[in-house]
Amino acid sequence: MYLTQSLHRAVRQSPDHPFTVYGERTHTARQTYDVVSRIAGGLAALGVRKDDRVGLLSPNTDRFCQVALGVAWADAVVVPLNTRWSGKENAYALDEAGVTVLFVDDAFLPVVAELRERVPGLRTVVHCGDRPTPDGVVPLAGLLAAEPAEDAHRRGDQPAGIFYTGGTTGFPKGVVLGHRQLVLAAMGTLMAQRRVPHGGACVLVAPAFHLAGFGSWIAGMLTDATVVPVPVFDPAGVLRAVERHRAKQIMLVPTMIQLLVDHPGAGEFDVSSLELLAYGGSPISEALLVRARAAFPSARFAQAYGMTELSPTTAVLCDEDHDDPVLRRSAGRPVPYSRVRIVDEAGREVPPGEVGEIVVAGDHVMLGYWKKPAETAAAIRNGWLHTGDGGYLDERGYLFVVDRLKDMIISGGENVYSTEVENVIAQHPAVAQVAVIGLPDDEWGERVHAVVALVPGATLTVGELREFCGREIAGYKCPRSLEIVERFPMSAAGKILKRELRRASGNQAPG
Ligand code: ATP
Ligand code: MG
Repeated sequence: MYLTQSLHRAVRQSPDHPFTVYGERTHTARQTYDVVSRIAGGLAALGVRKDDRVGLLSPNTDRFCQVALGVAWADAVVVPLNTRWSGKENAYALDEAGVTVLFVDDAFLPVVAELRERVPGLRTVVHCGDRPTPDGVVPLAGLLAAEPAEDAHRRGDQPAGIFYTGGTTGFPKGVVLGHRQLVLAAMGTLMAQRRVPHGGACVLVAPAFHLAGFGSWIAGMLTDATVVPVPVFDPAGVLRAVERHRAKQIMLVPTMIQLLVDHPGAGEFDVSSLELLAYGGSPISEALLVRARAAFPSARFAQAYGMTELSPTTAVLCDEDHDDPVLRRSAGRPVPYSRVRIVDEAGREVPPGEVGEIVVAGDHVMLGYWKKPAETAAAIRNGWLHTGDGGYLDERGYLFVVDRLKDMIISGGENVYSTEVENVIAQHPAVAQVAVIGLPDDEWGERVHAVVALVPGATLTVGELREFCGREIAGYKCPRSLEIVERFPMSAAGKILKRELRRASGNQAPG
């Protein structure tokens, strides 16, 4: 199993079928094959050899897809970089990964000089955007003039890429994933969704430099879809892309879903072509899920739970299970290639219904963290990857993710799962968005603290909030303090950065 396999298949089966459509630019499978094999030829001419790392700093574009395939074709390893990182952060990752050749899109031309200065091993920068290429940078056209190379047919456990984790809990770690892992995970995820679209268009808007987006791109190729990369998320732009291409599938993170359903003009777009709306990457509130299903009535919903270290999917909640009020609070059941267990602190398996750490085994577990043997050994113990997420399995094997262990609050000796409290608060009519964190407290050890963005014109006091929460959850889970904010610190994957909230809120007095 390998990344470039879908392209070979497309060329054999439907060479003139559009493989990508980016804005007004279409590449058929045959044209993509030509571009990809020349990129690989160009990389060889630049001295790229087996297992070398090639960086890719670009939003979702057709070039992103072609370069990622070209790198595999050239027997090398792709290192997609977070487009939201500063020059310093990108330099750190490039240096750590030992990247010698880096592809950059237009927006990153201004940081090339800084990257060169900070990363001594960086030999060549290739420009894969549309603006004029500055001096000292190789235009993509230069690579395309090369003789096409033969596909290296990299496969199995040979590394396909180094993917950086979301950086939600700390500095991102580079995760090494093999070809088999990436393709197996995309395939198994499709299978677990039960009914899979075929052909048509797949709108690729979740950033492909994160595995959620990258994996949905692979799924698009596996299902013979025309991939439509969208470089920036803007609600109207995404809805327009779905309408224009009569898209059948899309993968979104919950924050994107929220922005789409909140968009005032959302109803004006025809999204009735959507057959599959896959989502995941962070918890979703039931309130939002209900609104989303009403906004996209033609789509089957599928939630994926996983992490970069798991290629990324480990459990899927299929559409049918969304109709059940209990099951739709779960992350579904383990995908066919995955084994899931819940263990206590001593590593012993706990009975169904009991919360512990989610640990996972299977062929989709990462090869390791790049150059971090100690962290790898701590994460994978006896073949089981320790997720750092708390959860439980029910009698039928449904996995309920309760919280990241790092976000769990211990107040007065009781465990409080921040996501459970968030789910309740999200139902309050004054609340647009919410995060619940634990803050140090002399009396309780930690106190439950709610950070809320209000809907325009609304007000909320801590007393009102406690009363509202008290109707649904125990008193010790109800927030003792409330902070109103305009907006939240967010990661590129649309996750609220609770470590930043904790830092900012730490010196506030209890309300
Ligand atoms: P870092 O590891 O750098 O702190 P991160 O954990 O956010 O960042 P990812 O690998 O992108 O990086 O995200 C995986 C995490 O996202 C999981 O461990 C889990 O906490 C959360 N997550 C993913 N999918 C879901 C889901 N469906 N429901 C709830 N949480 C989810
Ligand atoms: Mg993580």
